[in-house]
Amino acid sequence: MSQKVAIIGAGLTGLTTAFYLRKQGVEVTVFEKADRVGGVIETCRTDGFTYENGPSTGVLGTPEAAELIEELSDLCRLEIADEDAKYRWIWKDGRWVALPSGLLGGITTPLFSFSDKLRLLGEPFRKPGTNPNESLADLVRRRMGKSFLKYAVDPFILGIYSGDPEKLVTKFALPKLYNLEQKYGSFIGGSIKKAKEPKSERDKKATREVFSLEGGLSNLIDALVQKIGSERLILNAADIKVSAEESGYSLSYNQNETVHFDCVVSTVGAWALPEMFPFLATDKLTSITKLPYAKVVQVSVGFRKWEGRELKAFGGLVPFCENRRVLGALFLSSFLKDRAPNGGALISTFLGGVRKPEMVKLSDEDIKSIVAEELTEMLGLTKWNPDLMVVNRYQHAIPQYGAESEQKMKAVAEIEANYPGLLLAGNLRDGIGMADRIKQGRELAELLIK
Ligand SMILES: Cc1cc2nc3c(=O)[nH]c(=O)nc-3n(C[C@H](O)[C@H](O)[C@H](O)COP(=O)(O)OP(=O)(O)OC[C@H]3O[C@@H](n4cnc5c(N)ncnc54)[C@H](O)[C@@H]3O)c2cc1C
Repeated sequence: MSQKVAIIGAGLTGLTTAFYLRKQGVEVTVFEKADRVGGVIETCRTDGFTYENGPSTGVLGTPEAAELIEELSDLCRLEIADEDAKYRWIWKDGRWVALPSGLLGGITTPLFSFSDKLRLLGEPFRKPGTNPNESLADLVRRRMGKSFLKYAVDPFILGIYSGDPEKLVTKFALPKLYNLEQKYGSFIGGSIKKAKEPKSERDKKATREVFSLEGGLSNLIDALVQKIGSERLILNAADIKVSAEESGYSLSYNQNETVHFDCVVSTVGAWALPEMFPFLATDKLTSITKLPYAKVVQVSVGFRKWEGRELKAFGGLVPFCENRRVLGALFLSSFLKDRAPNGGALISTFLGGVRKPEMVKLSDEDIKSIVAEELTEMLGLTKWNPDLMVVNRYQHAIPQYGAESEQKMKAVAEIEANYPGLLLAGNLRDGIGMADRIKQGRELAELLIK
């Protein structure tokens, strides 16, 4: 392919796309408005702590994620979380309760009501839903009962989407769960049948294990940049505007530079599209820019000497109905190597989300004192003496695939059909996790090469 491709955004999606295009010798230029690459991924190292601003871990949920890290193995190494990451805690009535993983735990757990446990026996026999735009909350209430929604799905959704199950549409937000019901008629029966189905060697790479990179996620970003070639990256690219030409697109940036490209791939958030693509009909873009995003505050907290309760779990999640001021906390040093000095702890805490967006407006001091009060009580500390505390705010942390999803996907398809060589991607579609982003990046490259 002798064509020139512009990629807008040097986050995980844009860099993965660029990497796979470069592998086939395609001429790419990546435009990034910030002065650094990685987007929301950023590893920091200080005083014996290795902490992440943004995501800390992912789930190896697609073969593409495993394959990308394999392909970069001369430059970075996959880190699979220790066994402790298999355990998750849920906050209920003033204490942590382990989320059950097996049948026996499911029967004895205090998280779910007796009637819902009985109801669960009937789950395999309930009819599949017929509304493709059914909310996750409605789906769970219908198949499993209210207490499962409150103490399993709600905290799970807070952990992934910082979202509200009443507003997320299952088909778009959790397509695997939606397909389980649609294809097999039941979550329980479907999971059992699916586990028994033979898997290709490639599918087996999607282990669903919790992963990071040895030394932090930025090592993946650095490896991608090294393979792509930093000369193909333009940082501090302000005011990007794309216009459609008779053949291809012209892209201008920094108000005086203009370059012609055959193809343009956008990996930026939905909100950034109207300014960047003034030629796209506003009514089409409106269906895309309606996509809401959760606002999230993330706080990394490090202790040289940990004196609280033993943190043998992936983390703790706090159901919305428990009315606390944190969404949850990840106990990173208990399942990843060298994240805190020996005997210490590194914890990543989240606040805000779609149901408490006002938290991002609080000052650093207020956020720090909330985290201090909440974690002291919830993690059994007698005094609050962290050696590291870093606050990050994300105005557009996680897109919420809700009622607008069907229209949004239609609008994206129409625009891409009307403007060959223009791809509107990034996390506005196809999943929010890092494994989804890598999968999309690779598929974009394959599509362009075709
Ligand atoms: C706080 C937080 C926690 C998360 N936790 C997890 C987790 O535990 N597990 C998981 O799998 N995922 C997690 N995610 C999601 C995951 O990190 C993202 O889906 C993924 O990193 C997004 O990559 P991206 O390249 O699509 O977008 P981004 O990383 O947002 O990259 C987009 C890039 O485009 C640039 N850009 C934006 N506008 C313009 C413009 N006008 N011109 C030029 N460039 C522009 C941005 O500066 C950015 O560099 C988390 C995200 C956040 C914010």
